[in-house]
Amino acid sequence: MSKVYYFDNNATTRVAPEVVEAMVPFLSELWGNPSSAYQFGSQLGKHIENARAKAAALINAEPKEITFTSCGTESDNTALQNALVVNPGKRHIVTTGVEHSAIINQCEFLKTQGCEVTFLPVDSQGRLDLHLLERSIRPDTAIVSVMFANNETGVIFPIKEIAAICRSQKVLVHTDATQVPGKVKIDVKDLDVDFLTLSAHKFHAPKGIGLLYIKRRVKFQPYIMGGHQERGRRAGTENVASIVGLGRAAELAVEHINDENTRVRALRDRMEETILHTIPDTLLIGAKEERLPNTSNIGFQYVEAEAILMLLDQLGICASSGSACTTGSLAPSHVLTAMGLTPMQARGCVRLSLSRYNTEEDIDYLLAHLPGIISRLRSISPLNTAHPDNA
Ligand code: PLP
Repeated sequence: MSKVYYFDNNATTRVAPEVVEAMVPFLSELWGNPSSAYQFGSQLGKHIENARAKAAALINAEPKEITFTSCGTESDNTALQNALVVNPGKRHIVTTGVEHSAIINQCEFLKTQGCEVTFLPVDSQGRLDLHLLERSIRPDTAIVSVMFANNETGVIFPIKEIAAICRSQKVLVHTDATQVPGKVKIDVKDLDVDFLTLSAHKFHAPKGIGLLYIKRRVKFQPYIMGGHQERGRRAGTENVASIVGLGRAAELAVEHINDENTRVRALRDRMEETILHTIPDTLLIGAKEERLPNTSNIGFQYVEAEAILMLLDQLGICASSGSACTTGSLAPSHVLTAMGLTPMQARGCVRLSLSRYNTEEDIDYLLAHLPGIISRLRSISPLNTAHPDNA
């Protein structure tokens, strides 16, 4: 396959070569079951615990507070389901209208089971009103779940302040931090959250492995039941190779966080500023400052993102119009419409998300082709009545 110019790191990331290297023994000679009594299997336990310690270090947790799961979606679902089970009688959830579908769709399901859900609105920059959040908490609120950073816009939420509000009201708090590792420091002790979700494929480890941080002494009832794995908190034979991969990726995320905040941020800023200054009728979506250093979401007036993405794809450029989990849906992004964009404006937005593997050359390549694509599409767009051909 010819070179891929990858600008969709919020959808998934390249598995780091160091992570592959760490995993290989567990996909070849060390293939036993960690629950077996004989050494060939049981010796794997120490590798799982080693990975758990590395994952804990990434977020400043204790190793025992880390439970490995199959993905971010499972961790999100588990946090909400658990809150309802350990708080019988409490049937209200507070979340936001811009969460990932792993939270939104679980909440929609819970509504059919008799729960009430408050989906908090955001402003045009994608920010929450914390007074409104505080007022939304009720005596029957089981949990507040607010994402750490939005996957479509990169907008960062003030989780420490949100957790303090929840603490003062004695309500459990969960944050979906799936987009954050390696980009912004995560310190669960400082944040003081009860639950936190991560997914390994967003930080250069494989798909199909995630974790849920469960604060010490917080009541927990497993969501997936069966064997005694993960100290009875998450049944199912451990995905040893992927757990080891997650551990190695966690170490690398710590090592690379400065690069992500300097070199990658500078690449992102050059890409973003050049697009906004050289292509007319473009708009940055979401707060400029309180944002992940790798993410840009840009609105292009008079064109459909789907058409832009198709032409980019023909040049080997991967980008997206929002969450990969909603690709194929004709509805405009719920995140962008929650920020007040009209459906037509939302359909013109493209998300470009970088990683430590992006280079100046990638940015040059994108910037060499994007303006031509936009003007070509605008020249034939029925939405563009300002264009001479369409007047
Ligand atoms: N939460 C957020 C914010 C995400 O961006 C994603 C993935 O796109 C998920 C949850 C789901 O993670 P996973 O793909 O591991 O299920």
